Amino acid sequence: MAPSRDELVFVPLGGLGEIGMNAALYGVGPQGRRQWILVDCGMGFAAEEHLPGVDLMYPDLSYIEADKKNLLGIVITHAHEDHIGALADLWPRLGAPVYATRFAIGLLETRRLSEPGAPKIPLHQVAPGRRFALGPFDIEYVPVAHSIPESNALAIRTPHGLVLHTGDWKLDDTPYVGSTTDESRFRALGDEGVLALVGDSTNVVREGRSPSESDVAKRLAELIAAAPHRVAVTTFASNVARLKAVAAAAEACGREAVLVGRAMDRVAEVASECGYLDGVPEFRPPNAYGYFPRDKVVALLTGSQGEPRAALARVADDEHPEVALSPGDQVIFSSRTIPGNEKEVGRIVNTLLRRGIDVITDRTELVHVSGHPRRDELAAMYRWTRPRIAVPAHGEDLHLAEHAAFARAQGVQEVVRARNGSVVRLAPGPAAIVGEVPFGRLYKDGDIVVGAAERAMPERRKLSFAGIVSVAIAIDERGEVAGDPVIEVMGLPAKSRRGDSIPDLVADAVGDVLDGMPRGRRRDPEAVEQAVVRAVRSTVQGVWGKKPACHVLVVEV
Ligand SMILES: [Zn+2]
Ligand SMILES: [Zn+2]
Repeated sequence: MAPSRDELVFVPLGGLGEIGMNAALYGVGPQGRRQWILVDCGMGFAAEEHLPGVDLMYPDLSYIEADKKNLLGIVITHAHEDHIGALADLWPRLGAPVYATRFAIGLLETRRLSEPGAPKIPLHQVAPGRRFALGPFDIEYVPVAHSIPESNALAIRTPHGLVLHTGDWKLDDTPYVGSTTDESRFRALGDEGVLALVGDSTNVVREGRSPSESDVAKRLAELIAAAPHRVAVTTFASNVARLKAVAAAAEACGREAVLVGRAMDRVAEVASECGYLDGVPEFRPPNAYGYFPRDKVVALLTGSQGEPRAALARVADDEHPEVALSPGDQVIFSSRTIPGNEKEVGRIVNTLLRRGIDVITDRTELVHVSGHPRRDELAAMYRWTRPRIAVPAHGEDLHLAEHAAFARAQGVQEVVRARNGSVVRLAPGPAAIVGEVPFGRLYKDGDIVVGAAERAMPERRKLSFAGIVSVAIAIDERGEVAGDPVIEVMGLPAKSRRGDSIPDLVADAVGDVLDGMPRGRRRDPEAVEQAVVRAVRSTVQGVWGKKPACHVLVVEV
């Protein structure tokens, strides 16, 4: 057999066909002997109903874990959690050096790596616009505008050609904080020749061009100036431009800006170290809030996604120790509700309205813009860079499919519909999906990262659906039941529809099944266990319509 050819491949392990968990490999070399870089290592939010007790998900990187000696580095495009949030937990499995900008490193260090037991990650700071080499990869950070400072596209030069990995980006000539998307640099890359563009699909279904972050800052300033009483603004903690806009708006109308929520404190700290909050007054701490007159204060709150423990939820429920709102005050949602969080956000909005507090959202006012490109922006990027191949990334299937059609309409010759686990050959020859590698999800369960196959997850789902009955039975050596079985039920209704006590019905069923067993059979603990489980589950199903889990402990005395 001829040795396999030297190739350039793209292998997404997360973020294609789902929101979040962005992680993608680029590999150079013949199959089985490739050198790799991993671009981003993000997390996603788990839907609580399906995974009780779990809120974070990570991509399963076992494919590259198995080949980690050939992983040259982990390259982070920007500091959003869907690009960096899995790094602290998954890095020990990979062990490769990490490359990121100063702001991303600062956030990573204050957020995760300051915790006890955090791994010592070798972090290499890359300035936006700089280039460095990792084996056959020559990587350039190309500044782009986005909803967090220091976001970068990556121009990845390889012996097989140049790949442009856009990361998250938009066009904004007045981004309020941070860089614009460097049009001249992208045009220059287009002139150099872009083999493939792997790009952000988030807003491909939206026509036109996104408004500017400065338009939002202006509208926020007008709303805050016009508010008769207190104003609370909630936004994504990492949106430094928004924090700065609120600080500037407050100053302009003689109000003090109070920052409430640990996540925002950390972002503000790193952002001021990096100079992104220069020119606005320092934020006041929450304990200062109560001292300012109602029309002289603006609070910036975490919790725009309805997170129950964050500042906004506690303020809405009037349970925050330092920050309170009264009827006539105003809450501005300077944010968009991430799909899956609608219920939680809706609950908070309704609570505020019930309490007589005004609520302003982006449905009626320009108080938020997305950080992702709409169709006109995408068209500009394709015009500037003229890639031969397009690979839609960063989106659910709908977004990837729309992006694929859009790229074709822009005249891109080859469009590859990759999904997580696809091995996409970008060169040599025509682009194609040439294989599949394992991929999947990991779950952060308390402080432990577990796989999807872990027994705990289906068990917990089952427990949350139908509860559990525990039975302890003592049997002596003659096969007689010693004393009464001890029965505990959890998560079951107290009474049947006819009003009988369900624990009593369970106790009767256990008594009957034990009485009905010949003494010899009762000496076999396994037989007793099986018979009792069957009796308990069918009895409960008979009166409830649901089968609980049943745990039987037989003690031989
Ligand atoms: Zn982002
Ligand atoms: Zn993202």
